[in-house]
Amino acid sequence: MIFPITDLMDEQASMKWLLRHLHPRGLRCPQCQANLQRARPFRTSRRTRLTDYRCRDCGIVYNLYTGSVFAHKQLRPRQVILLLRGVCKGEPSTAISEELKVTWRTGHELRRLLHENAYRLLPETPLCDADTETDELFQNAGEKGRKT
Ligand SMILES: [Zn+2]
Repeated sequence: MIFPITDLMDEQASMKWLLRHLHPRGLRCPQCQANLQRARPFRTSRRTRLTDYRCRDCGIVYNLYTGSVFAHKQLRPRQVILLLRGVCKGEPSTAISEELKVTWRTGHELRRLLHENAYRLLPETPLCDADTETDELFQNAGEKGRKT
């Protein structure tokens, strides 16, 4: 059963949550790093409900998704949060796409990009302790087609 969860989430609260997590220093111009006070609202997308800002210093147009994998994807903030939640929980692309009312291709592509970013951010240094815990040892035990 698909619940209408995207219709039940608050849009403004979703934007605030994304702003805090995507831009912890606040929304800034991606080119000259001027803060939002140095920009003016340029337009608001009817589809995403995001406001695009034009930097008064360099003229670049940017919004909440600029610099993230969600740029140019036409997703509403609450859809982005639910997508992130679904990927973190390991839900399949089909279930995520159905719940968010996006195509399977969009859900799958964003899931792949998020995984690539997560792998890129993995630490490459060895663990600092001499003991290995069970979850560290068997984290890849669930591969498909292999009996574990
Ligand atoms: Zn700028």
